[in-house]
Amino acid sequence: MEKLEKLYEGKAKKMYATDDPNVLWVEYMNQATAGNGAKKAQIAGKGSLNNRITSVLFDLLAARGVPSHFLRRISDTEQLVRRMDMFPLEIIMRNVAAGSFAKRYGVEEGTELRCPILEFCLKSDELGDPFINDDAIVALGLADERQLAEISRQARAVNDALTDVFASIDVRLADFKIEEGATGDGTILLADEITPDTCRLWDLRDRSGRIEHLDKDLFRRDLGSIIPAYEEIHSRLLALAASEGVETGEKAVTE
Ligand code: ADP
Ligand code: MG
Repeated sequence: MEKLEKLYEGKAKKMYATDDPNVLWVEYMNQATAGNGAKKAQIAGKGSLNNRITSVLFDLLAARGVPSHFLRRISDTEQLVRRMDMFPLEIIMRNVAAGSFAKRYGVEEGTELRCPILEFCLKSDELGDPFINDDAIVALGLADERQLAEISRQARAVNDALTDVFASIDVRLADFKIEEGATGDGTILLADEITPDTCRLWDLRDRSGRIEHLDKDLFRRDLGSIIPAYEEIHSRLLALAASEGVETGEKAVTE
C-alpha cells in the first residue's frame, strides 16, 4: 500500500489517496477545535490517542456485529479505511440531555430522556452545521428515503453497541456524533471517527456528584487538559478489548 496525494485536510484529520482506489490513508492531527473552529489549539498527543481510541472502538463494534469503514491501524497516528462517498450529515444520538440539546430545550444537563434521540445536522462549516429533519434531507437529495432509513437503523445499532462498550468501562455515553458513507456498490457504512472529540463520556467511577467529563467538553469549556482523560478512556478500552479477546495491535502496511 502506497500513500499518495492528500485529498482533504479537515479540522482533525488529513485524508490521503492510496494506490488502491477503495482505500484511504488517514492521519490524525493534534489540532483541537470547538465552536465550529472558533476555538483552536495544538495539543501534543491528541492525534495519537484519537487514532488509537477510534481503532479499538471500531474493533469492539465489529465484535458486536456493527461493521465500519475501518481496515487497520498502521502507526500511532495513521490508519487505513475504506473510501466512501460521505453523506453530508452529522448523525447525532442522545441518551441524556447535554450540550446544545439541553440549551435548545431549556433543560438541565444530565436530565434523563425517556428514549434515545436521533438527530441530524447538515455538515457544513459555512452554515454552522444547522439542524435538519428527515424530509429536508430527502427533499434536498442529501440521501434518499431508503438510505436515510438505513442510516437511522445503523445509528441506533451503533448507539446500542457503543452504550454497552462504555458501560463495561464505567462510562456513561451521554451522546455522540457519527458520519456515514456509501461504497461504490451502494453499501452504507459507519465511517469517520468515534473518539472523545465526538462523544460525551461521563465517568461513573467518580462519586463527586458532579459530571466528570472524559471528553472534548474539557477543552470546549476550559475545564482542564484533555490528555489525561483521553488516556484514561484509551487504557480502559484496551483492558476491555483484552478481556474480550479482541485484537487491537498496530499492523504493518503490506503490499
Ligand atoms: P472535518 O473538519 O470536515 O470534520 P476531519 O478532520 O474530521 O474533517 O476529516 C475527515 C474528513 O473525511 C471529513 O470530511 C469526513 O466526512 C471525511 N471522511 C471520513 N471517513 C471517510 C471515508 N471513509 N471516506 C471518505 N471520506 C471520509
Ligand atoms: Mg470531523
